[in-house]
Amino acid sequence: MTVFTHPEFDHHEHLTFCCDPETGLRAIIAVHNTSRGPALGGCRMYPYASDEEALTDVLRLSRGMTYKSALANLDLGGGKSVIIGDPRKHKTEALLESMGRFLEQLSGLYIAAEDSGTSVADLRVMGRKTSNVAGISERPGFDGRPSNGDPSPATAWGTFVGINAAVKHKLGRSDLEGLNVAVQGIGNVGYRLARHLKEAGAKLWVYDVHQDQMDRAVAELGATPATADEILYLPVDVVAPCAMGAVLNDHSIRKLQATIVAGAANNQLATAAHDQALFERGVLYAPDFVINAGGIIDVCYERKGPDPQAVRKHVDSIANTLEEIFQRSDRDGLPTGQIADQLAEERFRHKSR
Ligand code: NAD
Repeated sequence: MTVFTHPEFDHHEHLTFCCDPETGLRAIIAVHNTSRGPALGGCRMYPYASDEEALTDVLRLSRGMTYKSALANLDLGGGKSVIIGDPRKHKTEALLESMGRFLEQLSGLYIAAEDSGTSVADLRVMGRKTSNVAGISERPGFDGRPSNGDPSPATAWGTFVGINAAVKHKLGRSDLEGLNVAVQGIGNVGYRLARHLKEAGAKLWVYDVHQDQMDRAVAELGATPATADEILYLPVDVVAPCAMGAVLNDHSIRKLQATIVAGAANNQLATAAHDQALFERGVLYAPDFVINAGGIIDVCYERKGPDPQAVRKHVDSIANTLEEIFQRSDRDGLPTGQIADQLAEERFRHKSR
């Protein structure tokens, strides 16, 4: 296994390989860049087929967090951790506590939050051994409702304000009344986003692999059910991917009818080149790591002390960041993802603590 010559290695500051035979813990913690502050990012648990696959994921994801936090103007760096194992079979309290001990050894260089395969409850178990966990405390949420630490409501709201910004820029409209939106994946973020869209007067199409999620969206939001094969290709104004990554690829970009792609899913572009392909087709793409930053903003404020109004204001500023990206994209004739990367690099490369 290569590290310094790995294709996803990007001058990461620290890599920690954690092994605890007693609990079966095997994990990797990657700290990409701390020039803006301590690295904060999710702890993912996934049954990786190989150590290489786990390393690739953690290198890529931790780098992405540096860009996301810089563009959200947070005093945080980028990091991520992965636990190798099936969360439904291998997750035990002992294993999570062991992960907590490894986090503690890093003395706050990296702070872990929830990710795929880990929950608020899991982070609280890690938190028995370290204070370097986030997204765990009950507090007033950014919307005035009680929050258990779950960042999904803030992510959904940020995605909603981001869709508003994209619609304004591309379609010249300042409301969503009658706008047609297709939402792929109606889980924690997607369902809440769909509810905000519905309340703003949008017409919804939805698809989720789980029928009960579909039934709920149809019954409670009046959404029209779509199939797996059609959800991305409907003649709608906006497609909002809110499930898995790599949905924007050679095949899907050719078939898109929407002129806006703006959703919460991470890593929507199959490769960096697909940013250009969307641009050439005249599709306005809201870069995923910009529009889905509501959750990291929420988690960041948890550490500063609860201030729901400040969180709300900060999440709302995602619209301004996107507008700046869209304008620069028009001005420079470059795709939005590339512009977002440039803007992030300006913010973390030129900041020293
Ligand atoms: P979730 O697991 O609650 O929801 C995902 C939904 O997608 C589930 O209902 C699942 O059944 C569905 N799904 C899975 N595969 C699908 C497919 N092929 N087609 C359609 N639906 C499918 O996860 P979430 O927290 O809502 O996160 C959604 C996306 O947003 C993920 O990509 C996540 O990484 C990203 N994201 C989430 C947050 C957050 O705060 N939760 C923050 C930033 C980014």
